[in-house]
Amino acid sequence: MLLLDELEDRLEFEDDWLNDELDEAIDDLLFFEEEREDELEFENDWLNFGGPSILPGCNTALVKDGFIAARKSVKSAINLLNRISSSNKTTEKNKWNNDRRFVRWFGTYHKKGVKRLLRRYERIRSIMYSPRLKIKCGKLKTNRANPITKTAVLGRNYKSYPYSELVVTIIHEIGHIVLGGVDFREHTEKALCLAKKRPSLARVNLDNLSYFAVEVGGINGV
Ligand SMILES: [Zn+2]
Repeated sequence: MLLLDELEDRLEFEDDWLNDELDEAIDDLLFFEEEREDELEFENDWLNFGGPSILPGCNTALVKDGFIAARKSVKSAINLLNRISSSNKTTEKNKWNNDRRFVRWFGTYHKKGVKRLLRRYERIRSIMYSPRLKIKCGKLKTNRANPITKTAVLGRNYKSYPYSELVVTIIHEIGHIVLGGVDFREHTEKALCLAKKRPSLARVNLDNLSYFAVEVGGINGV
């Protein structure tokens, strides 16, 4: 029995350690991307803000409305994260644990996680204010994004999505433009599961980021 306990402890320790390592590696990758992007466009775009171009072929009113809700949601996520963030780890951890939305979408508290989440949402928000952002409505079924042309593409079925799902999709695809192209798990159930089992991946998984924002933003349906 003693041996088993010891083994369990050790496994748990290694799991934490692996999560931390993974977080660092992801952070490094994002950092390079961020630096390059920042140099290229950040300054000018804040000055020239005009919102994204919604390309012909879209239901402009619906996409515009969804985009505004998406931006509002991301802003709400940033505000909430700022509100709980504290230099005192215990305070921060308590606030995290007392808001089921954090636990639901991002799992257990992680001390560097709050700052990293903030940075990711801020990246998403910055591109949402860029006139270089384009939203296109494609003929294919899949939603996708092109980071080079800064285009988020909604698949042909977007008009039949529940509204909250449309907003989630807009955040998700715009997220790919600034945070890269990996989806660890997609859709609600899998995102919830990821939060429980692999919080470090949940914190970079775009569906977790998007669902959290939409729930905090008060968009109905999540
Ligand atoms: Zn994706």
